[in-house]
Amino acid sequence: MHISSILAKRQTFSFEIFPPRGDLPVEQAMHIAEQMSAQHPDWISVTFSAGGSGNTGATAAIAAQIQQTAGTNALAHLTCLGSSRADVDGFVEGLQLNGVQNVLALRGDRAPGREVIDFAHANELIAHLKRTAPELCVGAACYPEGHVEAPNLAADVEQIKAKQDAGADFLVTQLFFDNELFYRFREACVRARIKIPIVVGIMPFTSTKQIQRMAFTCGASIPSAVIRRLIAAGDDPQAQAEAGIEYACEQLRDLAANGVDGLHIYSMNKPSVARATYDALVACGYPAVAGESVADFVSDGMGAYSGA
Ligand code: FAD
Repeated sequence: MHISSILAKRQTFSFEIFPPRGDLPVEQAMHIAEQMSAQHPDWISVTFSAGGSGNTGATAAIAAQIQQTAGTNALAHLTCLGSSRADVDGFVEGLQLNGVQNVLALRGDRAPGREVIDFAHANELIAHLKRTAPELCVGAACYPEGHVEAPNLAADVEQIKAKQDAGADFLVTQLFFDNELFYRFREACVRARIKIPIVVGIMPFTSTKQIQRMAFTCGASIPSAVIRRLIAAGDDPQAQAEAGIEYACEQLRDLAANGVDGLHIYSMNKPSVARATYDALVACGYPAVAGESVADFVSDGMGAYSGA
């Protein structure tokens, strides 16, 4: 099922996983995806060589298995720096043969060996996908604090508008720890006439070290409320991880109440994180995790909720 079809009906709930690093088997990722499917997410996204891990081959294989075996919609990420049109077309063909209908079109981070071949920016990839594979539903990335290379938020929002104009069907945000920044960004998008749904990506931090690394790699600012909780957790790894889950659940409840289009959890391949965020949203009555939304989909002829 197209993610845009679900977003057209209601708020969504989804997870992200990344392929195992190195030579670890795809089965390991599938085991994680199967556990996460127990929460009936609207989709599970699979990253593409994120952080330069180089394991791009696994993305299509895992997305195909999520779609076919776990019975959940898969969203395959695809970056375009360092890729030719033929590379992209081959990747997409493989997805389509396996029933994967959703792609998140990205530029990818600049890195040695990832030079521009046929695509310099995500909007070019989106336009290419819409031209060559119009039956795909295509998402794109956006950045509530502005992308790290952009001179300012306004300039970055203009580039998001270019992604919409190229045919993007929906957006997924970079992680952030201060919801007010997202609400400010959402208003800027409205002013820029960005009308496609914006799915919010939230990452429960798991340790002080990890959140510091995230702040540097994606430019997310760390509010004092987070710092205070980490200081209270001290050196105890368990307490740090619990603080992260608790903070993310508070963020999610607030975002749900403020009418976001969807909530996407950067679950760091941890089924326990997926489960905790799911429970928090059940507790606050978030529609996407309420049983009746599944029945709605089956009965209104939009196809099985399972993504069949
Ligand atoms: P672009 O849209 O091309 O933007 C990059 C920069 O260029 C921005 O500063 C923008 O303002 C500017 N820009 C955009 N278009 C133009 C234009 N036409 N002319 C001039 N300037 C322009 N990385 C991975 O490697 N693998 C993944 O799986 C992955 N998944 C991600 C998922 C999400 C939800 C997000 C938010 C990011 C993800 N990333 C992933 C990281 C992403 O690849 C980086 O943030 C990358 O630096 C930018 O990608 P983009 O698609 O936003 O690029």
